[in-house]
Amino acid sequence: MYIEELTLTNYRNYDKQKVVFDKKINVIIGENAQGKTNLMEAIYVLAFTKSHRTPRDKELIKWDAEYGKIEGRVLKRNQSIPLEVIFSNKGKKAKFNHIEQKRLSEYIGAMNVVMFAPEDLNLVKGSPQERRKFIDMEIGQTQPVYIYHLGQYQRILKERNALLKDLQRKPNADSTMLKVYTDQLIEHASIILERRFQFLQKLRKWAQPIHQGISRGNEQLNIDYDASIDVSEDVNSEKIRIVYEEHFNHIEQKEIDRGTTLVGPHRDDLIFYVNDKNVQTYGSQGQQRTTALSLKLAEIELIFEEVGEYPILLLDDVLSELDDYRQSHLLNTIQGKVQTFVTTTSIDGIAHETISEAEIFTIHEGQ
Ligand code: ATP
Ligand code: MG
Repeated sequence: MYIEELTLTNYRNYDKQKVVFDKKINVIIGENAQGKTNLMEAIYVLAFTKSHRTPRDKELIKWDAEYGKIEGRVLKRNQSIPLEVIFSNKGKKAKFNHIEQKRLSEYIGAMNVVMFAPEDLNLVKGSPQERRKFIDMEIGQTQPVYIYHLGQYQRILKERNALLKDLQRKPNADSTMLKVYTDQLIEHASIILERRFQFLQKLRKWAQPIHQGISRGNEQLNIDYDASIDVSEDVNSEKIRIVYEEHFNHIEQKEIDRGTTLVGPHRDDLIFYVNDKNVQTYGSQGQQRTTALSLKLAEIELIFEEVGEYPILLLDDVLSELDDYRQSHLLNTIQGKVQTFVTTTSIDGIAHETISEAEIFTIHEGQ
């Protein structure tokens, strides 16, 4: 799939701007603070209805404007589909083919995007939360039902935690609701964990050979799912549910003492190993970057497998960070089949072979 055109209205530092893109490589050149990341972000938001760099939608609206709008046309399965996301103080709306979608989870997935930006190094270096966000975004992108379960899970978790806090303070309070919340939580948790296990198996399958390729065969990548319950990855949600039930029964008093939910997908993590050493702890900067890059490139293949079309790739400020070998390896991997956006402050950082095939855009003050 690829994005044919994009129109921004009152989006970040853009007043009104329409751009028609190349279906292969688009290079966006501009000095600092001109609107390169804002443009990449807008494409990302058109896919996910939220930004990769802020949870506060309000920041996306141009200062002093009442609303902000992103419109785009995506070519998918030989059909050109109009998409639209609008932000105002009344919230946000997403339109697919001019029709407003009641649930955002139904809209997400209309367009698939993979973004690789410098902060993605946090996927390896950062907190478990960053890695859970990565898994959730990736699964959600091809399985809207996963977003539904995740939303329900988070809602119930909040209520359950509030109740546990109450019980912690007032040990004689009525605890009948706890069982109800626990059952509801487990229902969603077991589906979430099942989907994560399935995703992990596919992620490994793609990421391992890609990592070997980028590291010229020197490095072997392994990925572990660190679950808060003891369960093997090849079981289905029914089995997972039973394990959760046993576990929650065991730890009820401990949860009340601590006033919080102690197991579940919200406590899980991923661990990356390169040649059997934990990359977060022992990896060099380059090994950490290669790991993050392999995961992102694996995502591209994974989405192709699920959707039948390649996603759109956004490379914000990362191409010039890679050495020539890695840069050309990256471009060979995606060659011709993935619409790619590359931002840079200077054309010098981009390899010749990239430039020769690309459409070049220059951005100055949001134009
Ligand atoms: P760099 O090379 O430093 O990464 P960039 O071209 O990626 O620069 P952007 O992150 O796109 O820069 O930001 C461009 C400008 O947009 C910044 O000066 C920022 O202050 C401005 N900006 C951010 N949010 C808004 C907003 N809501 N309204 C108006 N301007 C905004
Ligand atoms: Mg930027």
